[in-house]
Amino acid sequence: MVSDLPALSHPRVGVLAVQGAFAEHADALRAVGAEPAEVRLPGDLEGLDGLVIPGGESTTLGLVAGRSGLLEALRAAVGGGLPVLGTCAGMIVLARATACGEDQPLVGGMDIVVRRNAFGRQVASFEADLDMPVVGPEPLRAVFIRAPWIESAGPGVEVLATWGGHPVAAREDGALGMAVHTGQTPARRVHRQ
Ligand code: GLN
Repeated sequence: MVSDLPALSHPRVGVLAVQGAFAEHADALRAVGAEPAEVRLPGDLEGLDGLVIPGGESTTLGLVAGRSGLLEALRAAVGGGLPVLGTCAGMIVLARATACGEDQPLVGGMDIVVRRNAFGRQVASFEADLDMPVVGPEPLRAVFIRAPWIESAGPGVEVLATWGGHPVAAREDGALGMAVHTGQTPARRVHRQ
């Protein structure tokens, strides 16, 4: 999922399906030759080569996953090195903290602090062409929907794209966080990584 990991021919990639844009990610994964598997319960994490945590609402995601024990299982899987892509709310739950210190359950796994709804209310949703050289030279059509940005990042985090001077995509080991939605655009390139 992240380019410097060995490529698998037909990886089985879980898509967290408790809430949010999981169907789009499953389609995007299928389009790049992966086998998507919906993850709703802790046992669904078994045998996966990677995981996608889609956009949605990070508080809801944390609450719903918390009820079934899935949150703990996600912490263990991501902490144990399962490659993971988190988009928008998915990136928020991969953070170690939120900038406003909201009391919401997170999965963690990336040494980043994120600011939720960072781009303000008037421009809460917009599209932009993002330079993200790691997925190719062409700019990436990115959809920001009440998107977060990365407020601060630890030394092990590599920023992959910025918008308005703020990091909006980053990776750390096998974890890739993107503030934007990617499933519905040519950003399928991201899934291919
Ligand atoms: N604003 C949402 C949150 O804070 C994220 C929005 C999204 O995933 N599109 O969780």
